[in-house]
Amino acid sequence: MLKQKINSLLIGTNNKGKLREIRSLLPKNIKIYSTSQYNLKSPAENGKTFRENSLIKSKYFSKKTKLICLADDSGLEIDLLDKKPGIFSARWGGKRGDFNKAIKRVYRELNKKDKNWKNKKIKARFVCALSISFLNKKIACVLGKVDGEISNEPRGKNGFGYDPIFIPSKEIKTFSEMKPSHKYKIDHRYQAFKKLKKFL
Ligand code: IMP
Repeated sequence: MLKQKINSLLIGTNNKGKLREIRSLLPKNIKIYSTSQYNLKSPAENGKTFRENSLIKSKYFSKKTKLICLADDSGLEIDLLDKKPGIFSARWGGKRGDFNKAIKRVYRELNKKDKNWKNKKIKARFVCALSISFLNKKIACVLGKVDGEISNEPRGKNGFGYDPIFIPSKEIKTFSEMKPSHKYKIDHRYQAFKKLKKFL
């Protein structure tokens, strides 16, 4: 447990969408470093849970840079698909991280499960595990979630990943149709972030 607040931090992600969002959530007095400044590739994510993968990343990037590192592991769970893609969310986009490909796969898998899925409410949630590590030591690891449903077709131009097909509960628009500033106030990353406040 840290005795004082963190004043400089590496954001351990090579995903530009996450980097943008995490930057906007962090207090402005924290000096932020990114993995691109150090030319670092991401480690293999061989954990079985979001938490495990998040810690693999924060420890790996911290050891490489000797900086305190904040890392995110996140993904989309779809109930009808037995919570898939889950921790495989990025991998459904293939080696190049093609989000259109990942979205097509979601629709393909839903069609396989139930031809009539478009007439039903397809419950889903985004999950985010945020962890802070220094070298090999865990400082914190928290989980945030946002419930919602899958839209019948991709809608909107903002954001990244599965944003065009996710409608959070009590909203009409997909994450991609919303202003980023609104998404950042309700999503899984924000919910996890709230639990890290005492460190930041
Ligand atoms: P990873 O945490 O690097 O394994 O990647 C998580 C993957 O989940 C991303 O590449 C996206 O496909 C998806 N994902 C996580 N958070 C979001 C989000 O806020 N919007 C859309 N997709 C997300």
